[in-house]
Amino acid sequence: MSVAVYPGSFDPVTLGHHDIIERSASIMDKLIVGVLNNSAKTPLFSVEERVSMLKSVTRHIPNVEIQSFDGLLVDFVRKSGAKVIIRGLRAITDFEYELQLSQTNHVIAPEVDTIFLTTNLKYSYLSSSIVKEIAEYHGDISAFLHPEIAEKIQEKMALRESMK
Ligand code: ADP
Repeated sequence: MSVAVYPGSFDPVTLGHHDIIERSASIMDKLIVGVLNNSAKTPLFSVEERVSMLKSVTRHIPNVEIQSFDGLLVDFVRKSGAKVIIRGLRAITDFEYELQLSQTNHVIAPEVDTIFLTTNLKYSYLSSSIVKEIAEYHGDISAFLHPEIAEKIQEKMALRESMK
């Protein structure tokens, strides 16, 4: 059985991530989306919220599982019984970092390979950070996110403003 892990912060999941999830799930028997619980970053959404949002928008894809992880990615990949890491490539700016990451992971875990899916042209400009920035200034984010996620980000921004 082919098992892959698609890791990321997913803070929050965008239509660009969603596209990579759908496409990789269609070529693998099982896809585990690994949500990174990184204590060095301060995400807008907690890891539990990010997991729950991903579960909600991928509920129609039967071979997708959502899990959180911390620590080394290759340890999570090994524990999951996967041999493949999926990453999305948007632009040349992603390339250098992704190349370094995949080569390092391959040295630490030679049995694990990284497969890159190039972005759908529709979403090549899209990142979670840009979406958060637009939402912060009350811009229209409906073209970038699943409607459920757009609602959640607006709720989160309203909560933050009420606490200022
Ligand atoms: P990270 O913090 O690891 O960069 P992200 O949640 O930003 O996590 O992204 C996870 C993965 O999804 C990365 O491989 C990233 O390149 C990819 N990705 C993010 N946005 C897009 C997009 N619009 N199209 C294709 N891939 C994307």
